[in-house]
Amino acid sequence: MQKHDGMRSLAKRSTCASALGALVLSAALVGAQTPITPPENSYTPSQDVELGLKAAAEARRQLPVMRDDEVTSYVQDVGQRLVAAIPPELRHSEFRYTFEVVNVREINAFALPGGPMFVNRGMIEAAHTEGEVAGVMAHELSHVVLRHGTAQASKATKYEIGQVAGAVLGAIIGGGWGRVISEGTQFGLGAAFLRFSREYEKQADLEGSHIMARAGYDPRDMANMFKTIEKQSGSGGPQWLSDHPNPGNRYDYILQEARALRVENPIRDTRTFDQVQAHLRSLPRAPSTEEATRNARNGRTTGTAGRDARPPTGRVDPPSSSFRTYTEGNVFRVSVPDNWREIQDNSAVTFAPSGAYGTWNGSSVFTHGVEIGLSRNESHDLREATDELIDSLARGNPSLGRPNGYDRVRIDGRTALRTVLSNVSDATRQEETIEIFTAQLRNGNLFYAVAVAPRSDFGYYRGLFDRIVSSIQLND
Ligand SMILES: [Zn+2]
Repeated sequence: MQKHDGMRSLAKRSTCASALGALVLSAALVGAQTPITPPENSYTPSQDVELGLKAAAEARRQLPVMRDDEVTSYVQDVGQRLVAAIPPELRHSEFRYTFEVVNVREINAFALPGGPMFVNRGMIEAAHTEGEVAGVMAHELSHVVLRHGTAQASKATKYEIGQVAGAVLGAIIGGGWGRVISEGTQFGLGAAFLRFSREYEKQADLEGSHIMARAGYDPRDMANMFKTIEKQSGSGGPQWLSDHPNPGNRYDYILQEARALRVENPIRDTRTFDQVQAHLRSLPRAPSTEEATRNARNGRTTGTAGRDARPPTGRVDPPSSSFRTYTEGNVFRVSVPDNWREIQDNSAVTFAPSGAYGTWNGSSVFTHGVEIGLSRNESHDLREATDELIDSLARGNPSLGRPNGYDRVRIDGRTALRTVLSNVSDATRQEETIEIFTAQLRNGNLFYAVAVAPRSDFGYYRGLFDRIVSSIQLND
């Protein structure tokens, strides 16, 4: 089956911050804490937001953001807990805090002006406790609420916001690829937003301690994480420490601040943290940032899995009987077999086992699996929109049969259509069976799932496809 690409993208990559249940700020005694005053800034808070959104969009294009629900929900929960603990005088109503996990192995994290935060998988893997993860996040969050990125940029020339996104990303990725990405912009400009002075570092350490304490974490875990970063980072020094230099006596003053902040029964180790770490250990090892960004630049990789430039072999392992949940921003959720990887496009994501996915004559093809996506539709009529979808599939798949009609089924309680078509795979020349499900989103656009298996195996896969489709939740 050649993938559908006749219509354009609606799938948004935004993460939706997961709803947090009742949040109880623990009673931190905040008597003797060091007062922190945000530095002078010639940008407005809305400019922080604009700049951060641009740079975050670029980061998502270049870095493999994880779509693994277990990992992302966890980091979002820790993040929201910290956000709820920002002191009132440092809240900016314009800011939107988002938390995403990047599937790379370096111990690093960065937060952009106005709120977007990216935490590397390597950081979560290296932490010993949830408190340590929260420590780095609280430090990053403090740079955001104190508006250090734009304050630092205010010291230099006032930059045009449009100039900034690529440069910020260059500074994030660093090394050779960073320079390639920031070509044509000013490398130092990106650094201005992400590499902080020692004075700002101390502010972020102290403010981070306050936020941690208010959220029920022990600020000493921040100091512990900095030690972990120092110990576990390889040669050449960790990126995180070059962006966040030690102002001197870092551990001492954090411990001293922690004494003034006394937190009773701090959250340190949680079961969820242990589960998330165990889950990460079960996944294939994360690539390095350089490998990941090189792949992205070659157009080969997005999401957590590589994209093959070769044709699929069509030889696949049977689907695992355990399932994992995948969340696409605020659009949909679906459960798929554990051993199927996801391959991202602008408008769709394909879940397929290894060997089933590849490239044929310059087009993406798959022999087993399910493509889920959205397509723009003006008619707002499910039947007509489904006909158009099949027309567009037929343009890439000349052997595709035409539907005799549609069955009425349900997807997440909504009226949906289902049809089964025959096709001949371009890549394997074998007959295959295509099962198509469609439903309408509230805005009238079409939601679809296209399931593919060789004709001889369709009987075996059909039950699996039903199970996958019945797990779909639409969140529009
Ligand atoms: Zn810092």
